Amino acid sequence: MAGPSWNYVLKFIITGDAGVGKSSLLVRLTDQRFLANPDPTLGVEFGSKLITIPEEDKVVKLQCWDTAGTESFRSITRSYYRGAAGCLLVYDVTSRRSFEHARTWLADVRAHADPHLTCILVGNKSDLASERRQVPAEEGEQWAQNEGLLFVEASAKNGANVDAAFETAARDILAKIRRGV
Ligand code: GDP
Repeated sequence: MAGPSWNYVLKFIITGDAGVGKSSLLVRLTDQRFLANPDPTLGVEFGSKLITIPEEDKVVKLQCWDTAGTESFRSITRSYYRGAAGCLLVYDVTSRRSFEHARTWLADVRAHADPHLTCILVGNKSDLASERRQVPAEEGEQWAQNEGLLFVEASAKNGANVDAAFETAARDILAKIRRGV
């Protein structure tokens, strides 16, 4: 019988304020689609995708959980941090408030997730940046660096850097696994 077609299964979580595009990033990753009017995120959604990391010669199955952004769902979503290897911490580049809140989300992740978790800060809605940007890319990048996070700007709408965000995090996790971290 043929074995599984992947080398690793990695659990990812997506966190950040409501409205920053968490569901949209998940839909873009798994379906290559964008919904202008998605259902409001209620509780948790789930998506899965195989990605290849050529330089490691490995296929990774991403199991990705979209945690709801609203305070009232926090107690529900906490259990989903458990066992996560990767985290997309998402803000909206047109919302300074969502960037300020990333601090709180990171504290939440650090309080509940595995200390070796790889976290990538994702400034979403880069397609709107030329007209409505409130957070300079350099500021996102600097904060990420200070906090030991990876960083990328992305757009669930036009697909820019969405696969790259997950792949960058997966690559970092595989490197940790190889080093025995
Ligand atoms: P969530 O609450 O964080 O899961 O956010 P949603 O995925 O529900 O997205 C909130 C709103 O932002 C929806 O109207 C989306 O269509 C929109 N949206 C999400 N990602 C993008 C993006 O990259 N660019 C633009 N222009 N709109 C986006």
